[in-house]
Amino acid sequence: MPESMMMIVSTLEELRSARLILDEPVGLVPTMGYLHEGHLSLVQRAQEECASVVVSIFVNPTQFGPNEDLAAYPRDMERDLRLLESLGVNLVWTPTPEIMYPSGYQTWVQVEALAELLEGAMRPGHFRGVTTVVAKLFNGVRPAKAYFGQKDAQQVAVIRRMARDLNFPIEIIVCPTVREPDGLAMSSRNAYLDPEQHQAATVLYRALSTAKDAYEAGERDAEKLRVLMRDTLAAEPLAEMQYVSCADYDTLEELEQITGKTLLSMAVFVGKTRLIDNFVIG
Ligand code: AMP
Repeated sequence: MPESMMMIVSTLEELRSARLILDEPVGLVPTMGYLHEGHLSLVQRAQEECASVVVSIFVNPTQFGPNEDLAAYPRDMERDLRLLESLGVNLVWTPTPEIMYPSGYQTWVQVEALAELLEGAMRPGHFRGVTTVVAKLFNGVRPAKAYFGQKDAQQVAVIRRMARDLNFPIEIIVCPTVREPDGLAMSSRNAYLDPEQHQAATVLYRALSTAKDAYEAGERDAEKLRVLMRDTLAAEPLAEMQYVSCADYDTLEELEQITGKTLLSMAVFVGKTRLIDNFVIG
């Protein structure tokens, strides 16, 4: 299908008709819009592996807590659509909250233990919103593969679990975190940062790098790595740590000793902006 033929649909009926004419296999890239190079790297990977690519753009209200940034979340649909069209995406699905959650809505998908740690502990209900909307995106688009970023490491773990537990016949593909030249992980929320805060926000990358360097130099005591990350964050006056973690990659439980694949992760406030980042080691 030529680039100029990008279809844009909103309702479930439109999605169903558009879905019928896509070449198989179909790859899905779920997003909340305000696209950056991280999102585009997922689209490109999907295009390499699939005959058609569907991108969803939906700022999902149910994954935001009552005191989070749902209303302020950056949006620019026109620019997003231009970008996706220039990449040659086949179909963009832009449902509204009323389409996803019509009045009387009362069905939820919830992963248990894995979704209660780390981000789940700090943002109660967040992953329930994520798994519910992703299940609905999967049912609407019925992709063979779905693409997610390592940037949201726990999200990938929780969605993998959901896909297995609910028998979704969908391969979950995780793509590397795309960073700014200064190390800051790309995020739609970086738009909230002024230049001074942007500079301060590189402390997440610096803290993760310090811990990774120590690991590579032979350190296997997980608490020592957590202390290194905390100390690096504490040295940045504009940053306020929410948590740091050195956890088993599969269970996300905090480690004492590092013996296998390990997730270093953190959440940090810079001003009012909450940023997360992670490295995988081991
Ligand atoms: P979002 O729009 O923030 O919900 O992100 C949509 C998808 O893009 C998720 O799978 C994210 O993990 C992924 N993503 C966000 N930022 C990055 C990044 N810097 N590098 C790679 N993937 C990313």
